[in-house]
Amino acid sequence: MKTWQSWMIGLARSPGLARWMQANRATAALARRFVGGLTVEDGIETAKRLWQAGFKASLYYLGEYVADPALIAETVRQKKLAVMLLKDARLQVHLSVDPTQIGYGYDDALGERNALEIGRSIQQSSGDAPVLMLDMEDAGYVTRTLALRDRLAAEGIPVGQTLQASLKRTVDDVAAIIAGGGSVRLVKGAFADPRPHAFQSRDAIDENYLALARMMLSADAKARGFRPVFGTHDDALIAEIRQVADTGGWESGQYEFEMLYGVRTELQRQLREQGEQVRLYLPFGRDWWPYAVRRVGENPRNAVLLARALLSG
Ligand SMILES: Cc1cc2nc3c(=O)[nH]c(=O)nc-3n(C[C@H](O)[C@H](O)[C@H](O)COP(=O)(O)OP(=O)(O)OC[C@H]3O[C@@H](n4cnc5c(N)ncnc54)[C@H](O)[C@@H]3O)c2cc1C
Repeated sequence: MKTWQSWMIGLARSPGLARWMQANRATAALARRFVGGLTVEDGIETAKRLWQAGFKASLYYLGEYVADPALIAETVRQKKLAVMLLKDARLQVHLSVDPTQIGYGYDDALGERNALEIGRSIQQSSGDAPVLMLDMEDAGYVTRTLALRDRLAAEGIPVGQTLQASLKRTVDDVAAIIAGGGSVRLVKGAFADPRPHAFQSRDAIDENYLALARMMLSADAKARGFRPVFGTHDDALIAEIRQVADTGGWESGQYEFEMLYGVRTELQRQLREQGEQVRLYLPFGRDWWPYAVRRVGENPRNAVLLARALLSG
């Protein structure tokens, strides 16, 4: 019998269904729930609205594992357009980038050139330039992504790195970035990986997440100007992290929590009201169906949103 997760994966990967849903006005409610808009202008408008409500944003142009050179070029264009349009916005935005959407799924040299091009557009943008936040994809890309981070940092480009608590190597990767006074966005990890380099149980991943969070909130990290970002919706972990931060004398604003736009909105609001800095991962673009279906799949309680979209489609 098919499981809920395998149904969701099937729905997310069906190109025909994606085309149909994305072209259909009736499915707009599902898109609105998880996506900031279809164009970069829409995404920035949503980021402004969030800023007024007390949230920062990480803008993300949708599309991952892109192997078509024309689509890669369009993705780079969209990222640079976002940098240009954000120039005077004063929203303290992060610009999230998946290495495989700018060339790493096609040719590493092209991917690096594109990342440098986006990074330089950030450097040239006077005013409130965004931080380039590198997302982390499956284990095959980790070493290459970290090499890219080092290259961007060496060029003086403001760069943050997402690292996954599910991987055993992450303890060393976090230590190296702390030593250089950089920035890490710590997530649990979205890629199930049965090999020995990954923790297998949810408890082991959560335990590692907390151990890494303690490193990121250490006195040494603080002295080096390291900037911790905790990308999670796990309220138990968040409560423990807040306690560690408080004990270590970290002030709100010296570290952040980041959650996905449309996910656990009540928790987002509560944290904000309690004085925490909360950033929301805000995707935009026409290719929203696979992303939205994955969000639905993470919690069966979202099924009603999907059912409405499918029935109205
Ligand atoms: C800002 C951000 C950036 C990310 N970037 C990456 C990345 O670059 N690479 C990567 O591998 N992974 C990334 N992820 C995904 C991450 O690795 C996890 O897969 C995902 O965040 C779920 O883990 P969790 O920490 O929220 O904990 P969980 O234990 O999965 O969830 C905690 C609680 O939140 C609820 N919840 C979680 N998701 C939903 C949802 N969609 N709808 C309703 N409730 C939900 C759960 O039901 C549970 O109660 C990112 C996540 C965030 C928030």
